[in-house]
Amino acid sequence: MADIPQSGLVGLDYKELSSLAQKLGQPDYRARQLFEALYPQRLQALESVSTLPKEFRAMLKSQGMEIQHPRIEKCFHSTDGTIRYLFAMADGETVETVWMPEGDGGEAGDGTEAGDSEWDRATICVSSQVGCAVNCQFCLTALLGVKRNLSAGEIVGQVLAVLNDRKADLARQRVNIVFMGMGEPFLNYPNFMKAVRLLTEGVGFPESRMTVSTSGIIPRIHEFGEEPVRPKLAISLNASNDAVRSAIMPINKKWNLEMLMQAARDFPLRNRERLTFEYVLLNGTNDSVAHAREVVELVRGIRCKVNLIALNPGPGIEFGMPTEQRVQAFQNILMKAGIPAFVRRPRGRDIYAACGQLKRTVA
Ligand code: SAH
Ligand code: SF4
Repeated sequence: MADIPQSGLVGLDYKELSSLAQKLGQPDYRARQLFEALYPQRLQALESVSTLPKEFRAMLKSQGMEIQHPRIEKCFHSTDGTIRYLFAMADGETVETVWMPEGDGGEAGDGTEAGDSEWDRATICVSSQVGCAVNCQFCLTALLGVKRNLSAGEIVGQVLAVLNDRKADLARQRVNIVFMGMGEPFLNYPNFMKAVRLLTEGVGFPESRMTVSTSGIIPRIHEFGEEPVRPKLAISLNASNDAVRSAIMPINKKWNLEMLMQAARDFPLRNRERLTFEYVLLNGTNDSVAHAREVVELVRGIRCKVNLIALNPGPGIEFGMPTEQRVQAFQNILMKAGIPAFVRRPRGRDIYAACGQLKRTVA
């Protein structure tokens, strides 16, 4: 799949800005000023970069170099405070990004729309590809297929645009990033990892506030474990045996559960870090007591937690939502075996912003 060429300034790292400055006959501190403007200051146009002389800005523009964030095409507000953004990239392709505030003003609780300013914690769920090729049978993004990878700039750009739209102050408010939007981040590995580095070195996110989720691209899990700076890892397990997993996640035919669990066991966790397994509960398919017991056996000995997600339904998805009792029973079996298990509450289901519901719907 062809990668989109780098366009504009967002996505360039310090080294690349340095060689750009050099190419344009500028001293190196100009690169530092640009870096500061792009990432920590989150400026949205060269005009606003008052530290740079006018001539240099004009020179950059004449080279097609602007600060361009993805454009907010639409946004949908949920009653729980969640916002789903539809972003348009420079070539017109669109992806979705989700803002989930928590704390005082995050969730109104009474069903009215939550206030904009009174949140103190929030999570941004970002996309890594336009669509997804992995074709999990319960996921709406899968129905799109994959159009293309996002560039590092487009991944970082989603974060910058949402932070600016929400007027976030990272010194005061705690924001987490999850790479769990549209796409499989580990099938766009170099761009995803470059985005991670720009977010940590530039925008100011500690690595501990980021989590990436993968459907199980084994070679990349190994590579990811070797990264000096990396988000936490979540693995979409979603089934307790190969028969079920292959039926709902075709990728399991390439990398089966034995390979996946071996990669999970080999994964070098940091001090006090836990691996997360995500498990989407599909009524009557993978959510029985027997399945729960198989999960206990699979994860035995791995320092981990399990996030249970009841299926978020959608048009074209053949599976049903499990009842509350089945979810509870599943959770209880894991907990009794000493495995921390959490039921993830769906966010923004009313606006199609919940897990697996991102499909660029316009309404
Ligand atoms: N492609 C990556 C990350 C994005 S999906 C991955 O699959 O891990 C993020 C999570 O949403 C995954 O754990 C996935 O299993 C889950 N998910 C997908 N479709 C869902 C649905 N319809 N309901 C609930 N969760 C879903
Ligand atoms: Fe792709 Fe993840 Fe959806 Fe599977 S669940 S199709 S890997 S986005």
